[in-house]
Amino acid sequence: MTFQHKVAVITGGSSGIGKAAAIDWVKRGGNVVINGRREEALEEAAKDIDPSGEHVAYVAGDISNPKIAESLIQEALARFGHIDTLVNNAGVFISKPFTDYTIEEFESVLSINVAGFFHITQLAITEMLKSGSGHVVNITASGVAEQPIKAVPAVLAALTKGGLAAATKSLAIEYADKGIRVNAVAPGIIKTPMHGVETHDFLGKLHPVGRMGEVQDVVNAINYLESAPFVTGDILHVDGGQSAGQW
Ligand code: NAD
Repeated sequence: MTFQHKVAVITGGSSGIGKAAAIDWVKRGGNVVINGRREEALEEAAKDIDPSGEHVAYVAGDISNPKIAESLIQEALARFGHIDTLVNNAGVFISKPFTDYTIEEFESVLSINVAGFFHITQLAITEMLKSGSGHVVNITASGVAEQPIKAVPAVLAALTKGGLAAATKSLAIEYADKGIRVNAVAPGIIKTPMHGVETHDFLGKLHPVGRMGEVQDVVNAINYLESAPFVTGDILHVDGGQSAGQW
């Protein structure tokens, strides 16, 4: 699968799934613009993605800020001329009993997971409408959001990632006749900096297959959706069977 000259904007591209997706995208001949909160982390990530710097650009800042979203889109257009794909990957996860969430946690998770999707998607789709084509991939969550697990209470993930899944379908229908596809990948629990190594045994058991996923599992799903012109409005579960039922 080649992404020759295709331009992807990937939010949260300084680590984990977003960085792996960016590395893979550039390996396949594409160009990426990544975003994350910390300039130094982004600079390091950009070197790993493309040491020549030719196929990667980055914009530091909080993706829930409409001005940062605007800069990211402007950077993609200035550096690479157009935008083919937006991967809404930036996100946070806090597990705790419902009544223990603080107002700050509520506001922060809503801001990153929802506003962080909203502003940049609006701007990206505005550009995609001009070219009559484009693809948006939202990274939602499987188990904790769709098939709640007693041992991992996470209502803010359910609220925000569940909302993203609904928005995926809504936008897919709204833009299907405009050449713009909108899909989601719903991961199970994936080995990224989000989870300390000491938690991996416990987290692995929260999947029917008995183990956690790897970042490449999610990257493969993004790549599949990118190369599937008849697929839109899909929530592709990459979750070791979590969404299939009880086990
Ligand atoms: P990660 O912590 O390695 O990456 C998260 C990225 O988001 C980082 O690059 C971080 O800088 C960025 N980010 C966070 N807040 C931001 C903000 N306000 N502005 C800009 N960037 C911000 O974690 P990951 O596991 O790679 O997570 C990627 C996505 O996958 C997230 O949306 C997460 O909810 C989702 N997800 C992860 C798992 C998992 O188990 N790892 C499971 C389901 C869904």
